[in-house]
This record gives sequence, structure tokens and C-alpha cells, in this order.
Amino acid sequence: MVSACLLGVKCNYKGGCSYDLTKNSRFWLNLCDKYNIIPICPEQLGGLPTPRIPSELLGKAEDIANGKGQVINKEGKDVTQNFIKGAEEILRLSKVYKVQFAVLKSKSPSCGTKTVYDGTFQGVLIDGLGYTAYSLKKSGIKLYDESEFCVLEKCTLSEIQI
Ligand code: SF4
Repeated sequence: MVSACLLGVKCNYKGGCSYDLTKNSRFWLNLCDKYNIIPICPEQLGGLPTPRIPSELLGKAEDIANGKGQVINKEGKDVTQNFIKGAEEILRLSKVYKVQFAVLKSKSPSCGTKTVYDGTFQGVLIDGLGYTAYSLKKSGIKLYDESEFCVLEKCTLSEIQI
């Protein structure tokens, strides 16, 4: 699975894409030769519009899973159920397609694998996972941050060692 916004798909909260891995054709063709790639956007699958008001986690992803945290958007609206639904749909697809690994967008409240914003909308990053990233990791799927891929534009797949 790959965050769709890293594949040139205009699904991020601004209605744009965040990167386009497919522009590195050698890398991309190697990847496609070896794996079936499934683009995912948990926020869209959770029913949020595009473009949309950006959201941040209040609490850790595990708190949200335990009903002790929330996801709110910048206007203060509680979008926790959208995030939970999106993660459930992605998890369902991961099982249908027997997904081995996911390459996910950095810092996203859904897809972040290392850090997320702290819920203050002040641009402060803290250690933690986005909600879908947390769900995928909990089900045993190996996660890669985009930075582990996107800085490797000149690499071949064999150099990346998935
Ligand atoms: S939810 Fe994930 S895939 Fe969708 S725009 Fe945000 S970071 Fe990209």
C-alpha cells in the first residue's frame, strides 16, 4: 500500500498531491514489477471531502483506538469517526490483498509513521503514528516513511532492500 498523495493523486487536504513517486520511472517500474501497488487515502475513505479542513490527533493513536483520544479539525469539529472508518476500510483492504508493507506520507494524522502534529495546530511535531498507520502496524504490516523512499530517487529497488 502507498499513500495515494505520494503517487501524484490530488487527495491531500489542500486538494493537491504531496509527491509523485511515479516520476522516477526507473524506481517506479522496478517497484511495480516486483509488487502490486495499492494506492490508499484513509481520510477520503473515511468520508472526508477533498479539499478539507486539516486535522490533528488529540492524544496518541492508541488513545483514539481505546476511546480516550480524539481527532479534531482546525475548526474544532470532531472527525474521530471519519478517521476510525478510514482506518477500518484500509485494514480491510490490507487483508483482502494480503499486504506486506506500506509506504506512508510523513507527519499525517492518518499516515504518519514517525511523527504527527500535537493537536495545537501550531506546527509542533511529536513522536507518534497517524491513526491508520497505527492500525496497520498493529495488524503486523511493515511501515515505511515516505522519507525512506522519496530521498532515494536515484536508487534502484535492490538498493532499497524492502
Ligand atoms: S490521508 Fe494519507 S493518503 Fe490521504 S492525503 Fe492524507 S497523507 Fe495522503
